[in-house]
Amino acid sequence: MLPLRKNIAEMAGYVPGFQPQEEGWIKLNTNENPYPPSPKVVEAILAEVGNNGENLRKYPDAASRQARAAAAELYGVDPSWVIMANGSDELLNNLIRAFAGEGEEVAYVSPSYSYYGTLAEIQGARIRTFGLTEDFRLADFPEQYEGKLFFLTSPNAPLGFSFENAYIEELAQRCTGVLVVDEAYVDFTDGSAMELVKQFENIVVTRTFSKSYSLAGMRLGLAVARPEVIAALDKIRDHYHLDRLALVAACAALKDQEYLESTVGRVCNLRDCFSNDVRNLGYRVIPSHANFIFASPPDGDGKRVYEALYQRKILVRYLTDPLLKHGLRISIGTKEEMDRILVALTEIG
Ligand code: PMP
Repeated sequence: MLPLRKNIAEMAGYVPGFQPQEEGWIKLNTNENPYPPSPKVVEAILAEVGNNGENLRKYPDAASRQARAAAAELYGVDPSWVIMANGSDELLNNLIRAFAGEGEEVAYVSPSYSYYGTLAEIQGARIRTFGLTEDFRLADFPEQYEGKLFFLTSPNAPLGFSFENAYIEELAQRCTGVLVVDEAYVDFTDGSAMELVKQFENIVVTRTFSKSYSLAGMRLGLAVARPEVIAALDKIRDHYHLDRLALVAACAALKDQEYLESTVGRVCNLRDCFSNDVRNLGYRVIPSHANFIFASPPDGDGKRVYEALYQRKILVRYLTDPLLKHGLRISIGTKEEMDRILVALTEIG
């Protein structure tokens, strides 16, 4: 028998959203952005490859200095408060590795991003989840929470609501460990906990380039936190975790906020119209602050609708969690895609 660790042998592993390899699908299941990334990102990547790939011969900057500087400028912090990452998933993983030892507790909201649980299982940390009240507050969150890390997804995925900063401040005060605010979807709403990082030493904010920046394929994320947290994350990451193309893409994307605002604005407008259209079919739709909606059909059978959409080659996300199986998470795609899914939902009933 190979000496596999018990927790690895026993864990199930995370199942990401289906990525069909053949053409012909309408893909509204992994919250990708329907628009291409900024043309400046494409230019920067081509320039980096240019000259027959000469630059690719050399290792990238292990410290991601230019990308950190661009992010620091955007968020009004010193670059020592920023770390870049190979997708925000890398940060979630390294936060757990840095702060939660084997048997120590990591918590997150249920429902939210279940990958926190997978990462905690890999580390051998204990997992605790906190449910939500009807008005989207945490149920039974202790006055003083002593777990090492608490992941708060805001806007929440897959439900799409967000927590207000006043409530996040209160939670930061109630956590003796680190409060990670996962802002993967924050560009699709107003407000952010970024400012709170300066006031609360235990807040870490993570962001991704996969949604608002249309760069899921490049694998880019970042975190803003106190320099001592950033230094710890720097110690445990792979040294060349970002390749040269990702680094130039990150800089160009961060510097083109105008493009970001225009595509995000289009996604948000379409999201709000689509939410109303789906409500008119009798669905319950949670007001969304993200680039997806969570919608429940009148009969509360998410699986039935998922399967009927699948037969029509339309992919959405159906989650088997008992808290979520009454509905579907539908990413906001192009206008044409949303028109197609609306016709299909009308037929399916
Ligand atoms: N956090 C949340 C809430 C997400 O939905 C996702 C995307 N699945 C991530 C983090 C990870 O994003 P990425 O690794 O692509 O940056």
